[in-house]
Amino acid sequence: MANIFSGLENFGLGELSGLDVYNTTNGDKKDGDKEDDKPKITEADFIFDKTHTCPVCDTEFKSKAIKTGKVKLLGADSDLRPKYQLVDSLKYDAIVCPSCGYSALNRFFNYMTAPQAKLIKEQITVNFRGIEDNGDIYTYDDAIARHKLVLVNTIVKKAKNSERAYTCLKIAWLLRGKYETLPEDTENYESVVENLKKEEDEFILNAYEGFSIAFSKEMFPMCGMDENTVTYLVADLARRCGKFDEAGRWISRVLIARDANERIKSKARDLKELIVQNKRENV
Ligand SMILES: [Zn+2]
Repeated sequence: MANIFSGLENFGLGELSGLDVYNTTNGDKKDGDKEDDKPKITEADFIFDKTHTCPVCDTEFKSKAIKTGKVKLLGADSDLRPKYQLVDSLKYDAIVCPSCGYSALNRFFNYMTAPQAKLIKEQITVNFRGIEDNGDIYTYDDAIARHKLVLVNTIVKKAKNSERAYTCLKIAWLLRGKYETLPEDTENYESVVENLKKEEDEFILNAYEGFSIAFSKEMFPMCGMDENTVTYLVADLARRCGKFDEAGRWISRVLIARDANERIKSKARDLKELIVQNKRENV
């Protein structure tokens, strides 16, 4: 695996950068409108400081968050990545304790067992150098670094494969958001975009592998998704990895599922077409 954890040196966690996302030694746990007469709306207008209490070290701290109901959803990519108007809410999903380094996606942050807290103290806190939190917003680079910290934490605390996979997927989405919005006057624009796409592919592959394992070992709902949604997602991740036959098998499961609603079936039909088309182009 390429160095998908590059950037962690800044947090003092460079030594952990050789980690494998799914191999654990202790066995797998199953488990704006710019109208001239209006002031310009900026990303900072959507952000507030949310207070959290760390379940590992009990420190109270603030993290930037999106004001609920403020951001308009415009649509989604084929892998369910939501796209918003004006601000990419995805950047604000990683909560990082500035005191001990414990980090998690918002939906998982408060779930913590005593053995997991011990592992985080022993493997994260001892090396953690803190995190800078200045500026009104999180840039894509801030967000990507914060999410990589989350991924390391999922491995250290022996999180379920689905949580690791979901974190990889979120990082892939952030990398995509970064190159989609990269200013065209960026130095070496094309090679920067190409490298970001390569890194995105690594995380998509990791997400695909993790969700595939989770599928046979874990219960649904998984990361808030029902079985048909996860099946659809795995199909698209397989397609994005160039595994068109696997993608076809996964999507067929959604198409024949009796309990799948019309919304997901319709998305599945579109994806099936895309898989067939991609396969033809790659022959
Ligand atoms: Zn803490």
